Amino acid sequence: VAQTARVTLPIPDSPLGRAATLGAQFLANIAERPVARPVDLDSLRAAFGGPLPEHGSDPTEVVDALAAAAEPGLVATPGPRYFGFVTGGALPSAVGADWLSAAWDQQVALGVSSPAGAVCEEIVAGWLIDLLGLPTGSGVGLVTGGQMANTTCLTVARRTVLRANGFDPDRDGLVRCPPVNVVVGGEAHTTIRRSLQFLGIGDTQIHPVPVDGQGRIERGAVSSALSQLGDGPLIVCAQAGNVNSGSFDPFDDIADACSTRNAWLHIDGAFGLWAAASPTRRSLLAGHDRADSWAVDLHKWLNVPYDSGVAIMRDAANQADALRLSAPYLVAGEELRDGSSFVPESSRRARCFPAWAAIRELGRVGIAAMIDRCCDLATRFAETLADHPEVEVLNDVVINQVMVRVGDSDERTKAWIAAVQAEGTCWAGPTTWHGKVAMRLSVSNWSTTTDDIDRSAAAMISCIDATT
Ligand SMILES: *Cc1c(COP(=O)(O)O)cnc(C)c1O
Repeated sequence: VAQTARVTLPIPDSPLGRAATLGAQFLANIAERPVARPVDLDSLRAAFGGPLPEHGSDPTEVVDALAAAAEPGLVATPGPRYFGFVTGGALPSAVGADWLSAAWDQQVALGVSSPAGAVCEEIVAGWLIDLLGLPTGSGVGLVTGGQMANTTCLTVARRTVLRANGFDPDRDGLVRCPPVNVVVGGEAHTTIRRSLQFLGIGDTQIHPVPVDGQGRIERGAVSSALSQLGDGPLIVCAQAGNVNSGSFDPFDDIADACSTRNAWLHIDGAFGLWAAASPTRRSLLAGHDRADSWAVDLHKWLNVPYDSGVAIMRDAANQADALRLSAPYLVAGEELRDGSSFVPESSRRARCFPAWAAIRELGRVGIAAMIDRCCDLATRFAETLADHPEVEVLNDVVINQVMVRVGDSDERTKAWIAAVQAEGTCWAGPTTWHGKVAMRLSVSNWSTTTDDIDRSAAAMISCIDATT
């Protein structure tokens, strides 16, 4: 027992050394393996399964066994030709930093339990605010992803607008509070509704407003929705980066409407907020810095490993006031940041280390270049596919998102997507846009090249013939 409790040497044969080798091998070959392949689920279950082990095993063998069992069921999501959902890969330094984060096993709820974690969070917070063009001094909480970032921001928003209207949900709970009305775009991401459900805000308090053909909230729509809602606590959710089209809501127009009604403005910018890091795309977000809170993912477009999202709020003191933990044994940090004051979690891993590494690896200029490259490649993808007489591009390609359809047919488009997935050069999934089935492409990986786009487009076009 004493022996297995320690890291064994020599390093290459230790569990950590084997994990490093196996992980590096997977990533080194990722561009060559089929992006996804048919899996025999029975053998996958058999490889992982069997009865609960009665006795332990050698730790190095455990690592080897895990790699062998997982291999047939791994998808090359971090590879250069995975265009499904909005996925992003993981920059090499960020993967390494994530491994270190696990090895160090730092607990970043409290500054006292990890000065390195607390200071790194503080630095990453400042860098993110700078990169994303947000107000200096905003509060930054590192959470698991966009869903939790939206939930965290909306939790603080709900409390703040109730208090501004003379109610105290911390003291009285929600039962004695008036309804909080929330105006959302008709194309809000599905996680917004789920966050609101968690918070006890139901569909009758959620008011979708009209959007244009690209999924953007129409100018004036928020103002007229708010004027119909009368007095009381109000929240507005806008969006930077529609998950299908990549479009942006008109933030200046929406912020004007919110300020006249004292409504909290939240922006869900899970991936699209990163357009602010590019001087050539920043104008798409005009007015985004006028919001009260922002949700953004690092595991999508910044290419940090899962799980990594950020909840940012203009009023950092208010964020901490709403979320701070208190117990006699928790001594609030005076000089060091207590990470738990900015998130709903208590104990958590040090997500700041991989985030720090990704930003450090690319720098401001490299991040802008990565964002621009993804956008330019998305445009190239759309243009190449549109050369085929039967392919129609359904959206204005403003950033990294493309929707395409073949033969103006739902059935043929579904068959096309299935053929592309089975062919294995690349991977893309379906969506529905204005009632029509489309293939959705997201170019969000740091390692995708022009050649990857051309190979993928050629494979997709060859699959069209297979579906006629
Ligand atoms: C991906 C996404 C989310 C959810 O983020 P997770 O990281 O999956 O929790 C929310 N909003 C938008 C616009 C997204 O693209």
